[in-house]
Amino acid sequence: MPGEPNLILFTDMDRTLMPNGHQPESAQARPLLRQLAKREDVILVYVTGRDLGRVETAIEEYQLPLPDFVIGDVGSSIYAKSADGWAQETAWQSRLARQWHGLDAAKLEQQLGALPGAEKQAEDRLGPFKLSFDVHPGRRLPETLRHLEQRLSELELPVTLIHSIDETTDTGLIDLLPTAASKRKAVEWIVNHHHWPRSRVLFAGDSGNDLDLLVSSFRSVLVANATETLRQQILTLADYQSAPDSLYFAQGFRPREGLALNGCYASGILEGVAHFFPELFHELVEGHCHV
Ligand SMILES: [Mg+2]
Repeated sequence: MPGEPNLILFTDMDRTLMPNGHQPESAQARPLLRQLAKREDVILVYVTGRDLGRVETAIEEYQLPLPDFVIGDVGSSIYAKSADGWAQETAWQSRLARQWHGLDAAKLEQQLGALPGAEKQAEDRLGPFKLSFDVHPGRRLPETLRHLEQRLSELELPVTLIHSIDETTDTGLIDLLPTAASKRKAVEWIVNHHHWPRSRVLFAGDSGNDLDLLVSSFRSVLVANATETLRQQILTLADYQSAPDSLYFAQGFRPREGLALNGCYASGILEGVAHFFPELFHELVEGHCHV
């Protein structure tokens, strides 16, 4: 590993790095981001709700740079790029296993019993420490959540319940994870584990399960395609108010003639790099001119 990293870029995938939302993507954004990821002094980490298989599918489909690490399954798995594919960070798995005292997703499912309206997601979307359900149609989600919350409090299990609605398919999504696992906790762990300098970390995200990282003390950028609701929610949070300067709201900019970045998706990530690491961004844009 050459010297200290200059930037450790943690990014969410769907609608942060990948342009799979309603807004258009600036044409130069992903090519520039690929240039950034090629640098020896940049470490790239994906932080996603996707499992490893669906991360690989997205990399191929969207021609994304291959990351050095993947924090998958909403923080319940971590993989490092290795010579022959991916190596599970077993220290993280052991930590989750210890916290769950022998519980795993399969045993949790048994203990919960039947959940009205909930359908377990396909096996490839589950992990040893991630139990996930779909609820059709999305408006049935509150009823399922009430039932689930009651079951969880009866069982007194160290489980975090994460939910959201996928509006494109009108589906409620539920993830159950060990309380020790979240995107933020996994990022904290990996930064400490590798002794990376916190001042060189940047996180980029767009939605609900990115929220606690966006308002953490890590430098972060909210991409411009994030919803207005999320933006408003952030402004009210004490964590944000105590350190507002560590979060940048991308809005679109024109770093030089002929290069317009609209702040959405990869453009927003680059705008965050430009805001917090201007020298690095300058080198990237100048270098790109001559390619
Ligand atoms: Mg996202």
